[in-house]
Amino acid sequence: MKITAVRPWIIQVPWSIRPGEEPSVNNLHELLFCQVDTDEGITGWGEVTTYPGVVGNRSVAHMIREVGSTLIGRDPAHIERIWIDNVRTMTYVGTRGAVSATASAIDIALWDIQGKALNLPIYMLMGGPVRDRIALYTHPPSTTDPIQAAKDARAIVDAGYDAFKFDPMMHNIPEGNAHYIDGQLSRKGMEEAWEITAAIREEVGPAPELLIDAHGKYNVPTAIDLCLGLEKSNIFWFEEPVPVESNHALRQVREKINAKISVGERLFTRWEFVDIFENELADFVMPDVTWTGGISELKKIATLAESYYVPISPHDASGPVNVMAGAQVMMTVPNFYKLETSRYDLSDYNQFIDEPLDIREGHLYIPDKPGLGVNLDPDALERFAIEGFAG
Ligand SMILES: [Mg+2]
Repeated sequence: MKITAVRPWIIQVPWSIRPGEEPSVNNLHELLFCQVDTDEGITGWGEVTTYPGVVGNRSVAHMIREVGSTLIGRDPAHIERIWIDNVRTMTYVGTRGAVSATASAIDIALWDIQGKALNLPIYMLMGGPVRDRIALYTHPPSTTDPIQAAKDARAIVDAGYDAFKFDPMMHNIPEGNAHYIDGQLSRKGMEEAWEITAAIREEVGPAPELLIDAHGKYNVPTAIDLCLGLEKSNIFWFEEPVPVESNHALRQVREKINAKISVGERLFTRWEFVDIFENELADFVMPDVTWTGGISELKKIATLAESYYVPISPHDASGPVNVMAGAQVMMTVPNFYKLETSRYDLSDYNQFIDEPLDIREGHLYIPDKPGLGVNLDPDALERFAIEGFAG
């Protein structure tokens, strides 16, 4: 079998504002997929949705097109060799970000092809299952109102989830990561975050695990003060307290807080996790399969984590390929905590996939289908594609 085309798609799909509502054209959601075609008619799907969407997705899509053009005629079963070539041809200036994202999109599509060629789900190519379903954690819609936050949290728990994640600080950091300056959060912003979290804890009771995402936005003293206040609501983990560049800063926060720390959505390839494990900087790692290097790399990072007895919990903030790629690997991984989904009602995906994901009572069930277990519908992609990025 030979690769005949590698094609990036960027689509903008109407998304529902709150779970259960109709998709709205006023709430377009951008996703970046990668289609790999072969001369035997098998197509593989990859995904590498990133953000901030406009710049991040378009830059990576251009790279997929360039790197993909070098793969025409290659055997898609040479997944490991192609991963090495993809990464090494681009890493003279380092491995971070777009390089491993590009390699991820292609790698996921190649595993999908390999599974389809052998008529097996991907997890059967990686040692077989150690579990029969994938535990999920998810997100409420973001809100600034503690009463609404408590209501949304109740809906998630009633849907069968025992863990969910939110960022109650976000609305007070309007500049976001893209315009980070000093990592400071106002006293008012901190108090609002504590209040929203306390309202949620009161609503759901002591059992559900509340995961707080700091999105790598704070300086050291801010992260410490913020977390110590959140701990009064018995949070389960504090995610990415400081920007990803300084593990020294992460250590300073870790030494002064009590909550467990989770990092990894912005750590790329196995090498960037070594320092985290060796220096005991996190209780959980959460690599993103579409950013860190794909299915091949997620499996390696999971095994690395296993050798330090650290649980892994793949990150997802994007689309159905991300969810299924992470799930396929986690079927084979002993040291698994939970897989993230960006919301608990994923029916917006149904506008462009072949079959709805099978989610029941906070768990994802893997279909007995070859490859990823989900296929994108090229006609639907065509409808939602933006100019210049329609495959
Ligand atoms: Mg996060």
